[in-house]
Amino acid sequence: MGFGKQLIGILAIALVMGCANTGEQQQQSERDTTKKDWALVIHGGAGAISQDKPESVKKAYKAALDSALSEGEAVLKDGGEAIDAVEHVINYLENNPRFNAGKGAVFTHDGGHELDAALMVGNTRNAGTITGVRTVKNPISLARMVMEESKHVMFAGDGAEEFADKMGVERVNQDYFYNEDRYKAWKRSLQEDAQSSNMNQQDSPQYNLKEKFGTVGCVAVDKEGQIVAGTSTGGMTNKMFGRVGDVPVVGAGTYASDEVAVSMTGWGEKIMRAVSGHTVSAYMKYKPATLEEAGNYLLQDVLNPGEAGMIAVDKYGNTYMNMNTKGMYRATSDSEGNREVAIW
Ligand code: ASP
Repeated sequence: MGFGKQLIGILAIALVMGCANTGEQQQQSERDTTKKDWALVIHGGAGAISQDKPESVKKAYKAALDSALSEGEAVLKDGGEAIDAVEHVINYLENNPRFNAGKGAVFTHDGGHELDAALMVGNTRNAGTITGVRTVKNPISLARMVMEESKHVMFAGDGAEEFADKMGVERVNQDYFYNEDRYKAWKRSLQEDAQSSNMNQQDSPQYNLKEKFGTVGCVAVDKEGQIVAGTSTGGMTNKMFGRVGDVPVVGAGTYASDEVAVSMTGWGEKIMRAVSGHTVSAYMKYKPATLEEAGNYLLQDVLNPGEAGMIAVDKYGNTYMNMNTKGMYRATSDSEGNREVAIW
């Protein structure tokens, strides 16, 4: 190849790279980088939520989300820390039997309850998570203690219970978690298992579309820029012994970086395999992309319809709540006066 042709080739490559770069810069500049004082998003689970519910039930869910939101707002409006807002919101939802976390947690295959929770602060990349606890009333508070009071990130099963003993957190027996709807869902699931010859339902196309997930989560950024994600769950109905879902796995169902805080809900195995929370953060940072682009990428291009819902807030207070399921119990508010509660 002559020198002239080589030069044209180099110029063409430079031109193409230049265009790509300009595209990225344009994309980046569309991101709203005015820092809001604070912003908050919560979820109470995603899935095949029927719109045929009685009005009274719809109202009750919306009222619960509204009250949970107020818990977080009270902290953030006062100049409080995002970590406190996230813990208060999740405690409120854990204590409400309508959601699959704390009281109201789903049944395991053996008819018990095993709870998971995680909390992460993006600025410091500190995290605390617990999995398979059976007697802790508010798992998110224990996850916070793992982060603040231990040198580890995650405690499982008996070890987590022992840590709870040391921390003196409130304990309950398994009956505390009982909820009639969850009990019926468990019985139905056992029946379906018995009828199905396929023991491995993990890739059954029907499995995801009918499941209703009820995990709770909250993400927040405060006045000082502390950015936090938290999630708490009973897991999935009829889960097998010792099953660990996406929630307590840092980077999967719960993740916070200096860029964004993410909390997921849905089919844990799918969310975990996509390393969902970290995928969103990395996509924003390295593409680079806005929060909306990163969230849509995860829900539309990586995960499949019917699998998950996601809430997130970036360091500027831009928020995201979206799902590829029929619905997701969700709510958001910020210091600019934006406030929304929604299900479908
Ligand atoms: N993601 C949770 C899990 O798989 C379930 C849920 O979101 O309700 O444990």
